[in-house]
Amino acid sequence: MNFLEERIIKDGVVKPGNVLKVDSFLNHQMDIGLMDQMGEEFHARFAGKPVTKVLTIEASGIGIAYPVARCFGVPLVFAKKSKSVNLDGDLYTAEVESFTHKNKNTVVVSKRFLSADDHVLIIDDFLANGCALQGLISIVESAGATVEGIGIAVEKGFQIGGRIIRNLGYQLESLAIVESMDDTTGTICFREQG
Ligand code: 5GP
Repeated sequence: MNFLEERIIKDGVVKPGNVLKVDSFLNHQMDIGLMDQMGEEFHARFAGKPVTKVLTIEASGIGIAYPVARCFGVPLVFAKKSKSVNLDGDLYTAEVESFTHKNKNTVVVSKRFLSADDHVLIIDDFLANGCALQGLISIVESAGATVEGIGIAVEKGFQIGGRIIRNLGYQLESLAIVESMDDTTGTICFREQG
């Protein structure tokens, strides 16, 4: 088991509805040492890629994307969730359905912060059905920029998102892939990664 898998076993909580709670160390209270370690790991996995921007989505992606951007020495851009229907033309937009909140958000990125010559590394905390990632990919495509890769802290391998994104041909690196989990026993099994 790697460092993130070990931490999930120690402090993750399996909730009904296929939700894994990691809020004591990842997305509510954050273990900064762990965040830095994840940043270094993503930096190593995407070494050699000509990354010019790291892109994530608010709020919980930001804490993980920050150390990644620091390792690459590039800006971090986060897509904002906007309820406004009056979006002006200076924004890239995408519709994203939230797995945990079951609602739809329009997510936006200012056109000032992504352009056709950018090489983007997308980072997020979870991958479930892939809606959040597909929204971020479509924003990068709207800008005419290039997706250099996608880094995820926790992929739920029993949901469809990972397969969709890999089938699209992207280099998707998930630090932990949950193969199965059981809210009655609290058991969590990870996919072996080579
Ligand atoms: P997707 O769009 O891939 O269905 O879901 C990804 C988003 O939903 C992530 O950005 C994350 O915020 C949230 N999410 C999905 N599954 C889980 C989960 O099991 N636990 C937590 N804490 N968040 C999740």
